[in-house]
Amino acid sequence: SAAREGSGPVRCYEPSMGERADRRLALIRGFGPAVTDGHLRVHYQPTVSLEGRTVLGVEALARWEHPELGALLPDEFVPVLEATGQIGGLTEFVLDESLAAARRWHDRGMRLSVAVNLSVGSLDDGFPDLVAAALDRHGVPAELLILEVTESGVSAEREYALPALRRLHALGCRLAVDDFGTGQSSLAHLRRLPVDTVKIDKSFVLGMGTETGDVAVVRAIVEMGHTLGLTVVAEGVESAAVRTALADMGCDVAQGYLVSKPLPAGCLEQWLDSLAEAGGAPPGAEGGPV
Ligand code: C2E
Ligand code: MG
Ligand code: MG
Ligand code: MG
Repeated sequence: SAAREGSGPVRCYEPSMGERADRRLALIRGFGPAVTDGHLRVHYQPTVSLEGRTVLGVEALARWEHPELGALLPDEFVPVLEATGQIGGLTEFVLDESLAAARRWHDRGMRLSVAVNLSVGSLDDGFPDLVAAALDRHGVPAELLILEVTESGVSAEREYALPALRRLHALGCRLAVDDFGTGQSSLAHLRRLPVDTVKIDKSFVLGMGTETGDVAVVRAIVEMGHTLGLTVVAEGVESAAVRTALADMGCDVAQGYLVSKPLPAGCLEQWLDSLAEAGGAPPGAEGGPV
């Protein structure tokens, strides 16, 4: 933003408009090959209950190992794929990888949920069937799949997404409103959605240590969420002090660097194993040492 550029330190290098356009074009043209050449990855970040300190599940986060541009983050490539209508390919890839992982964990006795981020653009009429087929293919119970849609994605102007959301909910999947607090959703609107979970945007959670306003916002969302019978997740939990404050407010679930960064499946499995060794409690059971 202009304000940020004005107040920050002097920038030594700013990519030119031409360079940004080249990079965008590389992403647009490179996505198809990235899928077929196996350059997409999914990292998994655990979520833990604030009461029992147990691992409940993971959120699947897309990564792109670009052969020339290096490791790319979704904040850069997701908007490009949304704009070009290629986002459905990413959603399908992440869904397939995550359900395969969920199946593997399930077979090893770990009943972990997996949360997949959706772009509202992929919520067309055919999407619920695609999800049902993927659950079937991997033999994963629908209740282990959480689908996350951003608050702006379910705003009142996006009525067209409602039938697909209702069908996904009817399949038994859980629905979460992501980045809550940043959009315009009214309480009345949330009540009309088949939603089970709200995820408080990490900007408020990160601010809890220093901004009393953020503490008030987080408390209000926790209370409102519980009034509506929703599970409340705080993301961006980086400090033990914030985790304690969230637990005291009655927030249900924490996600953040304090617990773990997003990890490749193999590293997450090692992390889960080391937890089980340290505390003896398998993920999904009460009393883990997280
Ligand atoms: P999100 O769904 O809100 O995911 C949480 C983001 O916060 C992740 O960023 C995660 O790495 C980051 N995060 C987690 N804990 C902390 C913390 O303690 N501190 C800080 N500072 N950050 C934390 P990431 O992986 O870069 O993803 C960014 C966004 O990209 C996601 O935000 C989501 O909206 C989108 N995204 C990721 N994967 C997909 C995907 O497969 N499909 C779609 N449509 N969007 C995706
Ligand atoms: Mg999310
Ligand atoms: Mg979020
Ligand atoms: Mg986000």
